[in-house]
Amino acid sequence: MSHANGSPVLIVGSMALDSVRTPAGEVQEALGGAADYSSVAASFFSPIQLVGVVGDDFPTEHLDYLKSRNIDLGGVQIVKDGKTFRWAGYYDFDLNVAHTLDTQLNVFADFKPALPEQFKDAQYVFLANIDPELQLDVLNQVRKPKLTVCDTMNFWIDGKKDALIEVLKRVDVAVMNDAEVRQLTGKMSVITGARALQELGPSTVIIKKGEHGALLFHGDQHFAAPSYPIEEIADPTGAGDSFAGGFIGYVASQDSITEATFRKAVIYGSVMASYNVEDFSLNRLRTLTYDDIAQRYRAFQKIAHFEALDIAKA
Ligand code: AMP
Repeated sequence: MSHANGSPVLIVGSMALDSVRTPAGEVQEALGGAADYSSVAASFFSPIQLVGVVGDDFPTEHLDYLKSRNIDLGGVQIVKDGKTFRWAGYYDFDLNVAHTLDTQLNVFADFKPALPEQFKDAQYVFLANIDPELQLDVLNQVRKPKLTVCDTMNFWIDGKKDALIEVLKRVDVAVMNDAEVRQLTGKMSVITGARALQELGPSTVIIKKGEHGALLFHGDQHFAAPSYPIEEIADPTGAGDSFAGGFIGYVASQDSITEATFRKAVIYGSVMASYNVEDFSLNRLRTLTYDDIAQRYRAFQKIAHFEALDIAKA
């Protein structure tokens, strides 16, 4: 792996100011949002075309930072006198569970994505967490993508399930956490839940299990990625988005999409997520290097390695 020289990845999702409290501390109105986390994570592997909306209260320094990561902001609308999407939440000692205190859609409530002409030819599309109707709007505008991936969260499973099912019918890969899969499919087991999701549409389903790793269901194949033992998690916000960003960014940097590509992509996704949780907001991603990524990739490989079977045939 070298630098971000893959095909452009089109990403739509929330661009946010997050107020987050965890046992390790808190931040107020920090840079967040599913599209911001996933774009920055993916930008380590491929150039990004971002589609989203902010109000003119969104600090210019955040836009400058995104641009500095080779993220094309041609699809980002800045609404005059508008208020940026805000999310407030907290985590108790179970860092796998985010408790939402407040969701203010603000400028997202009236957002109509209009893709710049050159974005419509994107080969790789990530529909990050946002209103599934907006995800559909974007899918309707792209011409012939090679790979489409979607994410979502409980807020939309509760509020816009039908639109979300339409999205699922049309994507190749669904990325969700275990609780979301249970909520959406009504299945107790994530395995039967993943199979139920595959029946809805996506041939590949990835289930994120927070600090317990991730499962990949690809056709009838199954791969389990280990978890990386991080001793000090500062803030789990954006772990899922950095995972998905690392996943699609890596796939877009490869020549062909095979099961082996997907397996490696799940590990790159896990690497990005494991770094992201070490600090609040996108702070850890700001200082991340390619050496860091390579080092942790090798650590994942070591954790998962074991020798071939050596017992005598029964
Ligand atoms: P996660 O990767 O699941 O931890 O995603 C965290 C990000 O999701 C935060 O930065 C929030 O700004 C964003 N978020 C929270 N609620 C919503 C929502 N209802 N729609 C879109 N994005 C959201």
